[in-house]
Amino acid sequence: MKIEVLEKNDTVLRVIVRDADVPLMNALRRIALADVPCMAIDEVVMIENSSILQDEIIAHRLGLTPLKTDLDSYNLPEACPCQSEFGCPQCRVTLTLDAEAKEGTRTVYSGELISENPEVVPVSDKIPIVKLAKSQKLKLEAYARLGRGKTHAKWQPVCVSAYKYYPKITTPTELCDDCTKCADICSKKVLEVKGSKVDVRDLLSCNLCMDCVEACPKKPAPLTVEWEKNAYVMNIESTGALPPERVLQEATKILGQQLNEFEEQVKVEQQ
Ligand SMILES: [Zn+2]
Repeated sequence: MKIEVLEKNDTVLRVIVRDADVPLMNALRRIALADVPCMAIDEVVMIENSSILQDEIIAHRLGLTPLKTDLDSYNLPEACPCQSEFGCPQCRVTLTLDAEAKEGTRTVYSGELISENPEVVPVSDKIPIVKLAKSQKLKLEAYARLGRGKTHAKWQPVCVSAYKYYPKITTPTELCDDCTKCADICSKKVLEVKGSKVDVRDLLSCNLCMDCVEACPKKPAPLTVEWEKNAYVMNIESTGALPPERVLQEATKILGQQLNEFEEQVKVEQQ
């Protein structure tokens, strides 16, 4: 298998994967969405809430606030040796919020949450939680835990996890009858007219919709759009909880563990 990185930054990872097959790509895609753990607020103790929003709505908003995750220092609650309902310092992070509108109406933002672990804080300080009118107060304690996307979407470390086939386009060697219909119809602007010829401008933007082939008045069209067998473009966009390459590494690790478990089960059945 060969992997070529097209784009990589704090939240986005785009790679070309060659010599892989669809079941493997799909398994990695699904594990990244549903099985790679990340931190999210799971329980909120309201100490004072005189805002107009109910406790439940504020708790829901806090749950959906992405938190930076320190995967190496925390256990999943079900795997933690403490086996406690309330958790322990190895499986729980406490965050507190104490806000009051002293001078007039103001918005409480995620940046006001104070975490006991500076590594586990909201990804962005600018997420609005509630608006307080003068003299209203919000005071609470929140407990964040590791969890998986299959339990609740708040534990999903990615907002995009997708792959597509690697496109393969062959353009006619010469412009046919001054027709540029194929280039004009493409919403992704994959094709462009260069002098007297239609050329591929941005191959990787092609989503294989076939509009260009259908727009061609000639049948069969001199332009062909196909996809390469066993080559894919994979796109992972993190919520900021984990670096996108870490999500992919964890996904491969989890797939390995699941296969080992499967093998063990098969052995037990044979006995
Ligand atoms: Zn614990």
